[in-house]
Amino acid sequence: LPTAMIVLGMAGSGKTTLVQQRVTAHLHASEKSPYVINLDPAVHEVPFPVNIDIQDTVNYKEVMKQYGLGPNGGIMTALNLFTTKFDQVLSLLQKRAPELENIVIDTPGQIEVFTWSASGAIITESLASSFPTVVVYIVDTARCTNPVTFMSNMLYACSILYKTKLPFFVVMNKTDIVDHSFALQWTSDFEAFEEALSSEKSYISNLTRSMSLVLDEFYNKLKLVGFSALTGAGMEDFLKAVEEAREEYIKEYKPAYEKMK
Ligand code: GDP
Ligand code: MG
Repeated sequence: LPTAMIVLGMAGSGKTTLVQQRVTAHLHASEKSPYVINLDPAVHEVPFPVNIDIQDTVNYKEVMKQYGLGPNGGIMTALNLFTTKFDQVLSLLQKRAPELENIVIDTPGQIEVFTWSASGAIITESLASSFPTVVVYIVDTARCTNPVTFMSNMLYACSILYKTKLPFFVVMNKTDIVDHSFALQWTSDFEAFEEALSSEKSYISNLTRSMSLVLDEFYNKLKLVGFSALTGAGMEDFLKAVEEAREEYIKEYKPAYEKMK
């Protein structure tokens, strides 16, 4: 069965560039053409054609007009409308499955549209009950060189783990701007993180210090992959992390899903 990758991350972290340009280009070139699903109703044109595009089913601008909604409400409602037909997507995927290795799913720019909506949960669960499914959480490395911001992003990553209950790893994207070694250090060495914080003695920095101790267990298991969706640096590590997460799904998550059914 193919691996389904659900790509999540804050707006602007690089989901669309990673999915619809970089990874797609690489897999096409290595003759393992992925099946690409775009769930972002507001994405602009991209160089590679996607196999299933939410924009072919719903026009979020029309949805805004019709229901008197703003852009966020329009995007949310468009995803809801699309989700009512997700069983069709699933049967299409099942039909194509024998010839596929990867299904890659781009999600709406604003992360909460997917992670904190019924639609996102339905899509995630239907995929995970049919295919080995992994979550790829994208971080804008350049935007979290500050330890407090970094912590805020890691807490979000942790909450994604709670919400999806799927194997996942973090992609430190945009390493062409800033190298991600600081993140590797901060997640493996508490004292290094402490030192980065130490110049500050505010409530927030004290809280951040405690949080990093709490996250110790999360960090122990966490896989961080440096990547650049712009240059393609880190592709091998990325694909390896996908493979490992797939193994983890098969070993630990699949039995749990079978039990639920
Ligand atoms: P999304 O909202 O998560 O889908 O983010 P996008 O893929 O639309 O990217 C947001 C912005 O970041 C765009 O201007 C991209 O060109 C830029 N971007 C994405 N990945 C990289 C990267 O690896 N390096 C650099 N320098 N810019 C990137
Ligand atoms: Mg996007």
